[in-house]
Amino acid sequence: ALKLDRVNKSFGKVQVLHDIDLTVDEGEFVVFVGPSGCGKSTLLRVIAGLEDATSGRVEIGGAEVTRTPPAKRGIAMVFQSYALYPHLDVRGNMALGLKQEGQPRDVIDARIAEAARMLELQPYLDRRPSDLSGGQRQRVAIGRAVTRQPQLFLFDEPLSNLDAALRMNTRIEIAQLHRTLGASMIYVTHDQTEAMTLADRIVVLRAGRIEQIGAPMELYNNPANRFVAGFLGAPS
Ligand code: ATP
Ligand code: MG
Repeated sequence: ALKLDRVNKSFGKVQVLHDIDLTVDEGEFVVFVGPSGCGKSTLLRVIAGLEDATSGRVEIGGAEVTRTPPAKRGIAMVFQSYALYPHLDVRGNMALGLKQEGQPRDVIDARIAEAARMLELQPYLDRRPSDLSGGQRQRVAIGRAVTRQPQLFLFDEPLSNLDAALRMNTRIEIAQLHRTLGASMIYVTHDQTEAMTLADRIVVLRAGRIEQIGAPMELYNNPANRFVAGFLGAPS
């Protein structure tokens, strides 16, 4: 679903990503972990096309998209901050991207109905984001991503603004969504439980480089070094 080939990213003179090579398979759930500032969000944004790679190549669904605008990459992104439009109701927020794609009204309605059913959003469709709880807002943002029918979902710490109980519920919803849709997902988190329970593979980033990639239990049992062990909580 995704192939990164020697992706570098600099902001001015500061190089934030160094020669990132990564392949994400069709339907795979990949989690990025690493300390604050190591480049997780930047890497997601380069994949999404919100930032251009300084060099290297990005391929999604077998097509090169290195310079393709975000809306044409077949991806949908969910942010920590929800990124909902306050002046639009939930239905309007979910419709916006589809309208921009030029989808006809009946397709938009059907996609919203389907996403609302999956995320139990029917009662909120006519409400403004300001009238919703944090958990409801994040379900709307996830629902909006679902309406786009992307081949690749990108999540940037989607649960970190939620309290513990809500975090667990929403994590389970995301796992169910992944099973139902069979789409590929890349998910950034600081939370070990989220990483261990959601991931097919975990990518550990350190200072803009990939430190280790593997299945959760593989990293847990065989961390390449203390740094990786520190992230996944394996006894050292
Ligand atoms: P966190 O866990 O805190 O979200 P992160 O791993 O997502 O951190 P990034 O946001 O990708 O880290 O930032 C990586 C580095 O790139 C940081 O040093 C940051 O200051 C820098 N950076 C990110 N965006 C820009 C930008 N637009 N201009 C300049 N520097 C940036
Ligand atoms: Mg970040």
